[in-house]
Amino acid sequence: MLNLENDIRYIKGIGEKKAELFRKLGIFRVRDLIEHYPRGYMDWSDYKTVEECESGETVFIKAAMVSTVKEHMVRKGMTLYKCDFSDGKTVIRVTIFNNKYLAEALNIYKDYILYGKIEKKLTYAEMSSPKIESAQSGLGIKPIYHASEKLNSNAIQKAVKTALGSLDTLAETLSSDIRLKYNLASLDFAVRQIHFPDNFENLKKAKNRLIFEELLILQLGLLKLKSKRKKKTDFIISKNYTEEFFKLLPFKPTCAQVLAVNDCVGDMKKSFPMNRLIQGDVGSGKTAVAAGVIYSAVKNGYQAALMAPTEILAFQHYETLASFFKKSGIRIALLTGSASSAEKKKIKLSLLNGETDLIIGTHALIQNDVEFKNLALIITDEQHRFGVNQRANLAMKGAGVHTVVMSATPIPRTLALMIYGDLDISVLNELPPGRREIRTDVVDSRYHNRIYNFVKKAISRGEQAYIVCPLVDAANGNDLISVKAYAENLAGSVFKGVNIGLLYGKMKSADKEKIMRAFVDGSIKILVSTTVIEVGVDVPLATIMIIENAERFGLSQLHQLRGRVGRGNKKSYCILVSDSKSESSAERLNIMKKYSDGFFIADEDLKQRGPGDFFGNRQHGLPDLKIADMLSDMDTLKLCRECADDILKEDFNLDLPEYKALSLKITDMFGNSVPN
Ligand code: ADP
Ligand code: MG
Repeated sequence: MLNLENDIRYIKGIGEKKAELFRKLGIFRVRDLIEHYPRGYMDWSDYKTVEECESGETVFIKAAMVSTVKEHMVRKGMTLYKCDFSDGKTVIRVTIFNNKYLAEALNIYKDYILYGKIEKKLTYAEMSSPKIESAQSGLGIKPIYHASEKLNSNAIQKAVKTALGSLDTLAETLSSDIRLKYNLASLDFAVRQIHFPDNFENLKKAKNRLIFEELLILQLGLLKLKSKRKKKTDFIISKNYTEEFFKLLPFKPTCAQVLAVNDCVGDMKKSFPMNRLIQGDVGSGKTAVAAGVIYSAVKNGYQAALMAPTEILAFQHYETLASFFKKSGIRIALLTGSASSAEKKKIKLSLLNGETDLIIGTHALIQNDVEFKNLALIITDEQHRFGVNQRANLAMKGAGVHTVVMSATPIPRTLALMIYGDLDISVLNELPPGRREIRTDVVDSRYHNRIYNFVKKAISRGEQAYIVCPLVDAANGNDLISVKAYAENLAGSVFKGVNIGLLYGKMKSADKEKIMRAFVDGSIKILVSTTVIEVGVDVPLATIMIIENAERFGLSQLHQLRGRVGRGNKKSYCILVSDSKSESSAERLNIMKKYSDGFFIADEDLKQRGPGDFFGNRQHGLPDLKIADMLSDMDTLKLCRECADDILKEDFNLDLPEYKALSLKITDMFGNSVPN
């Protein structure tokens, strides 16, 4: 008998070679295989006759084999097997390529189900390399798995079948009370039916149960994280310095900015730690809000930290806040991975003895050896780039520390509440005045000369341009444009004499910083970059954003990139260059042309790419989900929230025997950041 924790090598038929292929798919243990749920199903009982189909349709046909197989060797390494089938009325001429094994397994006069594209001719039909299953055993709903080139869905199906066959009844993870209350099937039933459903009704029950369990574990984990922060805080702010702060700004704050800062300062006056999400579209002015919150914290005698996902952004925040706080006496330091160890040591010391009030930096900040004298506030910019675990680590920097996360990823409010359940939310629903719509055009590469002339004119007016390309190096046999080749080419031709900068993720941080600094101060006129500039950077004089191979980027990403321009009061342009002939690309790029609202675009992105991508780990920092989908399973999510609340009320530490299994699963999903 197998057990779930066994290595997949224990499954009959999986040798070391195959095991390696499974590992590449993230499948190491029997449990991983069992939880590699199908991505779809094919209903082999849903067959038709040739008469009922259109030519060109991909269909299931039930037909008997009516001729023997004839072998044709076309050339070395290519053998065709031809044979005829009949559905009772029409003959189907089937060609099988190279698959001797399949051809030899076929028996004349037996019934089969053929699956493939049917081509109807005058007196017969043709199918080229259809999938073929025996009509006796092959009927029913078959799973389709995420597979790889070397490990196809069928091979996975076989392994799952074997594994399920040698597993005992799976131990139940939910108490019978919960299963009764929420009408959930047993785990054993659900797991077996999700892979090999007897019918669609069972499939639905199975899905329902597994989705519930997954979302319940998610909610339990999140609620436990939250409770960790529900401790009292000692960092209470007595005075609100917001008014004073706004006088330091070079512009008049928007109403939304004032409200957001006051929300945060209000939170810090309470005896529980603040835990707030600030959502605002690109360009809504989140940095100034962060600065405002920091100002009050520091003026009340505390230290604050501001974290950014990239060094470039950390650097820029440093410059921005240093200029806001110029006359305030606030002592700021920048701590990034690229600082020399002597510098780092000095900065760390100054944090420990309280000589630095505000530290700005990247992840380097949350490394364990950074200690503070009296850190009271942590602000995380572009929150979706940080994982839950990182957030949890941060919260551990000090009990009772106030946290603010800022994000431009528009998540519907109800959903945000559910997945960040522990957060309060402020929305910046207003752009600073004087912003002009960014004109967006979609063109093909024949327009390059015109684009470059346009850029030249802008440069002569003192403006700057970004050019984003999908790749760093030219890859072989790939016609995508790479930043390096692109920048070289421009520098040697149309833009001779113009200072062109080059930026990509793998560069040394110090070099990145140098380039970015030169772009900010205007000595670099054109910045050729990968998407590393996607988040946050702000250069008001940059008025043109050119995106090459624009079809390669998701809508939300394009929106973020476009948000790099139009940040000053000059007319700005976004030019999407694409030679793609695909209709769906054209449609997507046109959405960019027509719409500028980030929430709307995110919605469209969601519709097109599916929530899997959008709510993938990358976007919201939550653990990966295997079967549930937070958008379409919102109703279940709500039930799970309620159920998780009940469970934790009864047994917060999940010590009761009926919750032991759940407790283990929480650790599986969240790692060790969730306390037991
Ligand atoms: P984001 O929300 O995308 O982080 P930023 O904080 O980078 O936006 O702000 C975008 C630009 O708008 C910056 O150049 C900033 O100085 C400017 N800005 C922010 N708030 C205002 C305001 N109230 N009035 C005018 N300009 C503002
Ligand atoms: Mg920002």
